[in-house]
Amino acid sequence: MYYIDPHIHMVSRVTDDYERMARMGCVAMSEPAFWAGYDRGSVDGFRDYFRQLTEFEPKRAASVGIQHYTWLCINAKEAENISLSREVIAMVPEFLDKPNVLGIGEIGLNKNTKNEAQIFWEHMELALKTDELILIHTPHLADKYKGTRMIVDMLRDDPRIKPERVLIDHVEEHTVRVAKEHGFWCAMTLYPVTKCTPSRAVDIIEMVGNDKIMVNSAGDWGPSNPTAVPDFIQEMRKRGYTEAKIRKIVYDNPLEFFRQSKRFKFREPA
Ligand SMILES: [Zn+2]
Repeated sequence: MYYIDPHIHMVSRVTDDYERMARMGCVAMSEPAFWAGYDRGSVDGFRDYFRQLTEFEPKRAASVGIQHYTWLCINAKEAENISLSREVIAMVPEFLDKPNVLGIGEIGLNKNTKNEAQIFWEHMELALKTDELILIHTPHLADKYKGTRMIVDMLRDDPRIKPERVLIDHVEEHTVRVAKEHGFWCAMTLYPVTKCTPSRAVDIIEMVGNDKIMVNSAGDWGPSNPTAVPDFIQEMRKRGYTEAKIRKIVYDNPLEFFRQSKRFKFREPA
């Protein structure tokens, strides 16, 4: 089955991963900007990273027939540095006419601090001003419910924000309804250790239905599995779901969300 991985950090993966994903049916992916494992020293570090995301990774993906899209921002971990964050936010528009950019992300919260919330909101202002889609990271484990709640409360109070243009990522059993209740898109991350396993993700689909929801591998430099979406497909098959029902989650839904971006030019596989 053809599928799309809507959240994966390919800068941390090798070309063999691209090849493996292509063999498993991946036809497109989107790569949010994230933390490198260390704090970058200057705005130029981000400028170079954004060049990698908009110039090099699309070429590497195209060499195996995968369409590569991306999202730009400074991540929540580095948002504690307010002055650097503002320099990055001011620089992002340099890249907004690159053909593979879908919007602003993954912005959000990590430890739910005041500085993170401030920089999250400044990213939202940029996205509204430039009419970009928004991809939101929600915190890990203990901070997740509170952080998701804080994000949703900030967004629902602003009438300029259209929920169908916002994706809230890394939802789990206790946060999926918080995101969905207000009409946002949401995504589940399939991780080998934390976040959702494929079977938990299918359980969640059985709880909330398959509308405005998708799954991703969030493969990065930590323990993660770039072919986690095919594992989810297998789990759905094991439980007897039709191919059309599975395709809605792993292909039709990401396409429907991404198509709202003015730059998304998806070519259907032949
Ligand atoms: Zn991520």
